[in-house]
Amino acid sequence: MAQGDDLTRARGDAKRRKVLVTKYKTQVVFPALCSRDDAEFHRASSKFLLGLGVTYHDLVPQRFSEGWDWLLPLLNVEDWKLVKVWAFTRLTGKWPATLVGGSENVATLLQCPRCHQQHIAVLHSLYSCVGTLADFLDSDLMPYVSRQFPIQCFVASLFHSSVSAEVDAARAKFVGRIFLRILSEAAPL
Ligand SMILES: [Zn+2]
Repeated sequence: MAQGDDLTRARGDAKRRKVLVTKYKTQVVFPALCSRDDAEFHRASSKFLLGLGVTYHDLVPQRFSEGWDWLLPLLNVEDWKLVKVWAFTRLTGKWPATLVGGSENVATLLQCPRCHQQHIAVLHSLYSCVGTLADFLDSDLMPYVSRQFPIQCFVASLFHSSVSAEVDAARAKFVGRIFLRILSEAAPL
């Protein structure tokens, strides 16, 4: 990056040294750290999320850090708990029992409190349970998502990276509400 002449000149010149160090940070250190973070993200996000039938990487192909500011005008204070449940589910594919006072987050509940099917994963309540159809039909997701979608398409519609503020808010509220309701109705963990 720096030629011998640059180094020699920088030794006797504080201003040049500062320029050289900045150049080193932006052109060498920063790209190396980014590429290390990308590799780590790729490794961690390749883990299969049993409850959703996909990897996190399928839902969030690019590592990015984005705030939640675009949802501020659409959500009230209580709704943020629903966003937390939604984000947790996308990260783990598990029932977020610890967010409601349970002792552990689990991949399956012993029994669905609505239809009594046994060993249900999160997708059961979102997609296939007859007992949650009314919750789905009541949600703001109706104009955008259908339970008739093929399952992979349904999962992507609920959890793939940001679509638009309205859809993001609607899907977080739907997922959050369903899980808080089901967890409150199910046997305690
Ligand atoms: Zn059910």
